[in-house]
Order: sequence, then structure tokens, then C-alpha cells
Amino acid sequence: MAGSSFSIKNVWGYRKYLPLPARRAVGWVKRRVSPHWLWESKQFIDYFEFLQKSQWWSLEELQSFQLEQLRVLVKFAYENVPYYQRSFKEKRVHPSDIKKLEDIQLLPTITKDDVRSHIDEFIPIGVDKSKLRVWVTGGTSGKPLKVYQDLYYSCMIEEAFSLRQRLWTDYKQYDRKATLNRDPNKRTFRCWDFNNTENELILSSFDLTESNMFEFVKAMKEFKPRILVGYPSALEIFGRFLIRNEITLPALNGVFCGSEALFPGQRALIESAFNCDMFPSYGMSERVADATECEKHKGYHISMEYGVFELLDQNGEPITKPDVDGVVVGTGFHNNVMPLIRYQMFDIGTYAGETCACGRNAPLIKEFKGRLREYFVGKSGKLMPLQLIWSGRHPVWSKIKEMQFVQEREGEILAKIVQAPNYSNEEVMWELRAEVGKIMNPDDFKIDFQFVDHMALTHRGKLNFLDQKLPIHFEEITRLSS
Ligand SMILES: [Zn+2]
Repeated sequence: MAGSSFSIKNVWGYRKYLPLPARRAVGWVKRRVSPHWLWESKQFIDYFEFLQKSQWWSLEELQSFQLEQLRVLVKFAYENVPYYQRSFKEKRVHPSDIKKLEDIQLLPTITKDDVRSHIDEFIPIGVDKSKLRVWVTGGTSGKPLKVYQDLYYSCMIEEAFSLRQRLWTDYKQYDRKATLNRDPNKRTFRCWDFNNTENELILSSFDLTESNMFEFVKAMKEFKPRILVGYPSALEIFGRFLIRNEITLPALNGVFCGSEALFPGQRALIESAFNCDMFPSYGMSERVADATECEKHKGYHISMEYGVFELLDQNGEPITKPDVDGVVVGTGFHNNVMPLIRYQMFDIGTYAGETCACGRNAPLIKEFKGRLREYFVGKSGKLMPLQLIWSGRHPVWSKIKEMQFVQEREGEILAKIVQAPNYSNEEVMWELRAEVGKIMNPDDFKIDFQFVDHMALTHRGKLNFLDQKLPIHFEEITRLSS
């Protein structure tokens, strides 16, 4: 940060050495003299006002809005996007065939592999690829996929939907928030940083050491954020730390999470550690679907203004009944530089089949049962959901700081563990083996343990609780639940 020559920029860089109260004062002034680049733009304000109204629309109003958007999208794709020009013709569908929402089923579904192998054909004619933001999905497991986005527009849409959910607590737009989902270290000498434009305390999710987490606690107590936003895996590690050290943080309105599946046991741990409700959301870098949990916590409301959300069975038929597993297929309305129509995710969901007491009419997804990779495969080939392991409330979990399962062969699991201070490897291994043995049949699963100093994170700072190297198919999962 410190350059060899004197410049205003270098002096400004030294603000990071100021104590937090001084930095907050600088931020307070800055927010009053320079308008926020996104929140104060007319486009954002208009779109956000629209979302604030549309959340109370009737289901019929939401559906007719979707039909209108879908027709525009399909016509655009047919006229401008080489991949769809070809695939719609092969399927003999024309934009004029989309007369009602269900007609979306006339269109072919696409997979991650389709997009990966025809990536350039998904960019509309006349769009300059070099001007787009590239987002890589996939993390450590699974083959990565490049997704192209219009930077401003994509940020605007994502921010508008996130903000709408945050306002479902008593949080207001410029209120103090803390985040635990990225790495501020490139710009600061501390394990945390302060973003004065957004009044945000950034805690590094990349380096969750004991001493850093003590620093987080100090900063959180000083800053008193109204909400905390993070990845479930990072929140879990910080939550375990708080419980282990009997630390109570200042009261929060809620903890918000996304990007990874949230397991029921994990949720219980985080809610008890932070002493407030969680507000999970469902989304993906491909930007094809969005769903957010409301203050009644009965499931995830589908964001119908965001795109068409479908749950399909193994034959590709739409699921309409509650409690039936289906694979998520999404059609996003907002990525005009790389439109994805009927894009198949690797996630399994079920409908709740009831209306929500909050008064919003968008249908509820009862739960997302994790991604297809979040299953163990036994020696017999039988699948076991990862979340069963996580439901444990045994004391052994408090002796573990971080943990990751790795599976490369059927029936064999490697448990990598970073243990909490003051416990022996043998103690943790013995107790964990006994605990896991209650859930996993020892004839079907052999577990090995490896104690490590720290865990490798994905390039976005997430920790996959299970690094599943084996291919798992949807058909096997539906067989499991039937
Ligand atoms: Zn609701």
C-alpha cells in the first residue's frame, strides 16, 4: 500500500490505520457528500420501488408479469442468440408459441455441459465479449463454467433482491452491516476492513484463525452491526468459536446467508451462536433463479420477478405437488448478454404447498435438499444425504474447528479435521467415529481421519463440507426418496 513517492492516493490509503470510530466518522461524511454509485442511481431506485410493490401482488399478477417477460426473452433469444436460433428450430418452436406460462415446457432444457461446450453461441450477436464481466462457477469440485454478465446491471439486480429481503427485518438501507464472505486482506493489514460507502464491516472469511476471530469479536462489539451476511460454512466456523469461548455478540436483527446449501443442524448452531434468526436465500452465479426466506421462516419465496422457477421430475415433467423432490430449472429474465433459458441446476427442491402468513403470494419452496454432490455413496452404491451427518448435536462437534469430508471411491470417506484447541486427536477421532457410526452403516462406509492445520477454501473463500469426486445422478436420489 505505501508507495515510494508521495501522493494524495497514498495518504488516503493510510486511513486504514485509523481506529474504527474514526473510520466510521469519515464514512458518515463521505456518505453525505458523495452519492452511492448504485443505491442512488435512478435505475436502482426505480427498480427497487417496483420490487417493493410487486412483492404484494396476487399470484395472478405475478404470473402475468412473468409471461410478459418470458415472451420478450424468448423472442430476443430467437432473434439474437445463435444457440437458441438453432435449438428452437430443432425443437420446432417459435416465440409465438409461448401463449401461456406453461408453454415454457415447449422449450428445450439446457445443462451446464451444453453451455460449457457452446459458450460463445450463448452471447447475442453484436455483443462485445471483452466488455463483459466474467464470472467463473464451479469451485473446487465440478468443472468450472464461465458466465458473462453486464457488470452494472447484474450488480443492480442482485443488490435489489438482497436488499428487499434484508428490509424484511428492521434493517434499513444504510444501517450498519457486517459481512463474512470475502477477503479484505488485499487492501488492508488487518483481518477486517471497513467499507465506508456502505457502512459495512468486512470480516475475512479466508482466514478464520482463533486470533483473527478474537479480532472479529472486538470489531463486532465496537461496530454493533444490525445484520451479518455470510457463507454458511464461514458462519458455522465463527459460530462454533463463539460457543466454544462462551462469547455473546451485540444483538443482531438477523443472519443472512446464500451461495451454499444450509443444513438444518448447521442452521440451529448458527442461530444459537448469534442468538437470532437466519434468513437464507437461494441463488447461483448463472443468475437463473432466486428465492428468499421471509420473516415467517416457512420456506423460500420464489422471486417471480427474477425469473421462471421450475421443479422437474426425472422425466422432465413439472412437479406441482408439495413434498415431491424435483430438480431446479431456472430461466433468468435479467442476463441479456448471456441469456440462459430452462437451465438445469444440480439442486433438489420441494414445494411447501401452503400460502405464507406474511401475505406475499409467491409460492414457497419448503427446502433445498442440497446439491447433487452433497450425498455420500456407500459400498453398496446406496446414497446417504450429507445433512444426516450434520444433524448431530453430540459434544464432539464443539471440539472440531473445521471439517471436510472427501470421497473419491464408493464406501470410502476421508474426514479432514482442524480441531479446536485443547483436545487430543485420539479423543476427537474416537468420539466422531462412534457418532458417525450411529448414522452410517460400518459395512457400507469406511471412514479415515486426517488432522490438518487448515482447510483449503474455494477461490471464493467457501468451504465445501463434502468434496464429492464421484458422479451422482438425479435418478438415484429420487429412488432414494420414494
Ligand atoms: Zn412469507
